[in-house]
Amino acid sequence: MTDRLYYHDSFLYDFDARVVEAFSREGKHAIVLDRTAFYPTSGGQVHDLGVLIAGGQQLAITEVADQEDGRILHFTSAPLAAGTQVHGSVDAARRRDHVQQHSGQHVLSAAFIRLFNMPTVSFHMGEESCTIDLETTGLSAAQAQKAEHLANEVIAEDRPVSIRFVPLEEARQLGLRKLPPRQTGDLRLIDITDFDLTACGGTHVRATGQIGSILLRKIEKVKQGVRVEFVCGLRAVNTARRDYTTLTEAAALYSSHIYDVPEQARKSLAETKAAGKAQHKLLEELAEFSAERLLAQTTDSPQVITESFPDRDAVFLKLLAQKLTAGKSNVIALLASGAGQPTLVFAQSPGQKSNMGQLMKDAMTQLGGRGGGSADMAQGGVPAGSAGADKLKSLLQETARKL
Ligand SMILES: [Zn+2]
Repeated sequence: MTDRLYYHDSFLYDFDARVVEAFSREGKHAIVLDRTAFYPTSGGQVHDLGVLIAGGQQLAITEVADQEDGRILHFTSAPLAAGTQVHGSVDAARRRDHVQQHSGQHVLSAAFIRLFNMPTVSFHMGEESCTIDLETTGLSAAQAQKAEHLANEVIAEDRPVSIRFVPLEEARQLGLRKLPPRQTGDLRLIDITDFDLTACGGTHVRATGQIGSILLRKIEKVKQGVRVEFVCGLRAVNTARRDYTTLTEAAALYSSHIYDVPEQARKSLAETKAAGKAQHKLLEELAEFSAERLLAQTTDSPQVITESFPDRDAVFLKLLAQKLTAGKSNVIALLASGAGQPTLVFAQSPGQKSNMGQLMKDAMTQLGGRGGGSADMAQGGVPAGSAGADKLKSLLQETARKL
């Protein structure tokens, strides 16, 4: 078993040790030390990084893993022989960050229990934020805010956090927030004075003040309850800084104060919606006029209209096709547009004998596009830039000849 130095001191970053095993696992160099300050991934907390120095050579620690039998595997950037004396140095900034997030989780989980009797069923530490899953059917924004407030009060009170080892039977009598699923030997208890007592193998602050602060973020429903995202300490500051920068940029776009951004955005969305409606109405009128003009150009029966619009899009084309054919007795419209994705629309007055869907399929085969539709109305699109205006025009003529 590896002697876990971090069990007794979460702020020990440098230590000396001896390599007791060295082997290769999944193509990676793995070693076991007699003692270590490197924390292995476990209990939701991510492993440490850092370096090992041996005989003037410096090796990077790339991963640290816990083993069922109590050994800790260190994966290194180069091999080391058993028996080698090493000096280990833990990446202190990364460790401090993990200690803040992990200890913050203890406080937050205890706050949810105290206020609403919502137990934490899992904890995840990510690169940017952490989450806990609460066993509950729902969590309101007001409840989340209340828990955040209590957690920050406990942080501000700077309550001492102590570690002690007690036999399992004794621990059972202490009313722990959480007992580990299976345990042999003594339990390692983390005691936040008069607030939380739980069994845990992780690294923690000496007093709650070192957590700095806790900021709750997204709240979402998940299968086992409610997931609460949070950030602690420097992460909370960095997150707030990024939020402020984002809001400031948005506010500058509206020339408004940051707190007025939601109202400005609502106004702007309403304006965009109204403008879209007005534009659609104008487009419909334009389609109406265009249809009248085109129908006036021919008196044949059926009236076959072939027309391409290099500057118009598919929306206009469909409107025009409707205006040309709906309520008319014998009109066939073969239309093309060039704006955005070049589009074809074929339509005929309802119930006529031609098959627009089939004609469209033939046209798309020639153009390398995709499309189809019913006997009376069909639409197809070709990849942008693959068919010029002339090609579309000649294809419309060719389709007209087939009628
Ligand atoms: Zn812990």
